Amino acid sequence: MSALDPDTGLVLLSAGQDSTTCLAWALDRFRRVETIGFEYGQRHGIEMELREPIRRQLAALRPEWTARLGPDRVIALDVLGRVSENALTADLPLVKRPDGLPATFVPGRNLVFFTFAAIVAYQRGLKHVVGGMCETDFSGYPDCRDDTIKALQAAINLGMDTRLALETPLMWIDKAATWRLAESLGGMALIDLIRRETHSCYRGVRGSLHDWGHGCGDCDACALRAKGWAAYAADLAARRALASAAAGRRRPTGP
Ligand code: ZN
Repeated sequence: MSALDPDTGLVLLSAGQDSTTCLAWALDRFRRVETIGFEYGQRHGIEMELREPIRRQLAALRPEWTARLGPDRVIALDVLGRVSENALTADLPLVKRPDGLPATFVPGRNLVFFTFAAIVAYQRGLKHVVGGMCETDFSGYPDCRDDTIKALQAAINLGMDTRLALETPLMWIDKAATWRLAESLGGMALIDLIRRETHSCYRGVRGSLHDWGHGCGDCDACALRAKGWAAYAADLAARRALASAAAGRRRPTGP
């Protein structure tokens, strides 16, 4: 069995809100963190361009994060785009498929990503392989489900005779809670970084900056992100109002 350092992680970083939050989560926990990304023939190269600036700015938020962040790797998996017809890698309309799955579904994508990440983690001695998959508030991809990831973890550990842990810290929280998690990890500086620098839009549109970030505003990914932001912003405003009322009560009254 390979020697895995329990205080290390490898984060699947796509430059989206979820994987960026996962990178902060890993930097908060593990002594050494590396990142991995995949080129699989995406129609838009924007995510790949944003990964390095996100890594640099996120690590700079805390001195210990700067010290913990190790190298990045980009793995070319363009064969995935060649064997799969979907709206992420081909110019197809963003409509639901007859079986109800989104047109952006790339069959097997997360299975392939986690498997390649596990190969790298195994060789680098990194114990925790971290991904932003979530089945609470998601677009319906079956390979984001907890059971899929758990089954894959079992298969990988049997097949490699190792004890890697596939970690999905966002699995059971919704998008608003993902913003709150980011706030708890890196404060409003991290919230601002995620708003401005990350990319979720399926159309690859950056455009002007909305409250919730950049994007076309009407694809599934933008809609999900905007809805999560609205719930988070309402919660933040309520917490701030409570804190300011409590501060008012604590303020000494004059003679
Ligand atoms: Zn969009």
